[in-house]
Amino acid sequence: MASSQAPSSRSGEITSPGNRVEQISDSDFEEELNGTAMLDNAEYLSRITPPLRDMLETGTSQVQDETLEAILPFLEGNPNDFDLNSQGIPKLQRKKHVAFLERALGYYPPQFAAMDAARPWLLYWTLQGLTALGEDVSQYQERVADNFSAAQHPMGGYGGGHGQLPHLAATYAAVLSLVIVGGTEAYDSINRKSMWQYLGQMKQLDGGFTMSPGGEEDIRGAFCAVVILSLLNLPLDLPPDSPARAHGLSSFMDNLGDWVSRCQTFEGGISAAPGNEAHGAYAFCGLGCLSVMGPPQETLNKYLDMPLLIHWLSSRQCSPEGGYNGRTNKLVDGCYSHWVGSCWALVEAAAGKKGLWNRNALGRYILSAAQFKKGGLLDKPGKRPDAYHTCYNLAGLSAVQRIYIFDEGRQRGVGNGDLVAPFHWKEDGLYDGDKVWDNDDVVDRVHPVFVVPWGKAEDCRLYFERKECL
Ligand SMILES: [Zn+2]
Repeated sequence: MASSQAPSSRSGEITSPGNRVEQISDSDFEEELNGTAMLDNAEYLSRITPPLRDMLETGTSQVQDETLEAILPFLEGNPNDFDLNSQGIPKLQRKKHVAFLERALGYYPPQFAAMDAARPWLLYWTLQGLTALGEDVSQYQERVADNFSAAQHPMGGYGGGHGQLPHLAATYAAVLSLVIVGGTEAYDSINRKSMWQYLGQMKQLDGGFTMSPGGEEDIRGAFCAVVILSLLNLPLDLPPDSPARAHGLSSFMDNLGDWVSRCQTFEGGISAAPGNEAHGAYAFCGLGCLSVMGPPQETLNKYLDMPLLIHWLSSRQCSPEGGYNGRTNKLVDGCYSHWVGSCWALVEAAAGKKGLWNRNALGRYILSAAQFKKGGLLDKPGKRPDAYHTCYNLAGLSAVQRIYIFDEGRQRGVGNGDLVAPFHWKEDGLYDGDKVWDNDDVVDRVHPVFVVPWGKAEDCRLYFERKECL
């Protein structure tokens, strides 16, 4: 779409000190919230209030200006020459993204040797991305079950491949991959008893979890552990040989909420561990952990300062880019479309409010700036696409396009056992406000806590609820 201004002049206008401070009246604000969808891209951008910034030039402000310079042409025009939807925005390049992910499931070139320990992640991102694009991945059931049988360690949990030590991040990705393909062979390949014992080695006296026995304790560990406990219907009692038992703990849940609470920082976001810097991906892990432990309206409000959290999450959405960054003073990046964007369903469920975030601006960033010309999605223009950014841009797009709500009355057959809160979510249709996408650009439903295709988490949990013992 033609722009009335060259990208460079628009960038200069946005970043010049004279335009950085403006009075924002209520009427301006309302105008920005309403009626932007039918504007053309250049007109949309011309309506955006330049970000409020001080006039001190630093390395950080320079790289931000350079980034904006690189992104604006994609928001104002269509440098990739994609087909446009009825809103003048690039269509979701579904076929190209499917082809990109299917290639990623095949042969890896030699330079991927460094990613060997991350093989479960490569599989998870690829499978999840394909299902978000509407692909049936059941054809991979046998291959995925075989692959992870070899990567399962005798002491429990999964490593990157045969003979590698297990790690909780690899274990999380392996379990989610098995849940995504589903089926008896995949489920039965998981040794739940050794998994339970392995998780018992991670539980710490202060309530958190390490990523490996004797390894770092951070909020990834807490999130990964509760997701696995819930999906596999494992007992919450600590195994007899769990070191935490020697310190008086008896349950995986002991002190956990308080530990997550201590990860909320003075900014309002959530950090890897108490005392660290708030970060978008850790925010999702923290909120996800609390949303497995119980209904978000109970757990989030009990353990977090919600107004401060909402302020910090809102501050992550970059203007005029529309996408999210992960930390204060950092650059927009497509993967935070999920890590931050997907926090909103959980936060809105806890707050009992809707409309706390700008879905349209994030949808515009993903479709206009995060799609690679030849397929796959990416961090930002100029970067290469990869399975990670493809998976999480698409999960973010699902959060943008669909309404996920927590429904106390819904449980889809799952029993009344432990950690059943994440089985109460339902999709309440598509977002029906002003939007920059057409129905053809809508991705499939993604579970807001487990980040797997709709229904797959329930299938897995129900399968293991029918098992009488570990
Ligand atoms: Zn990223």
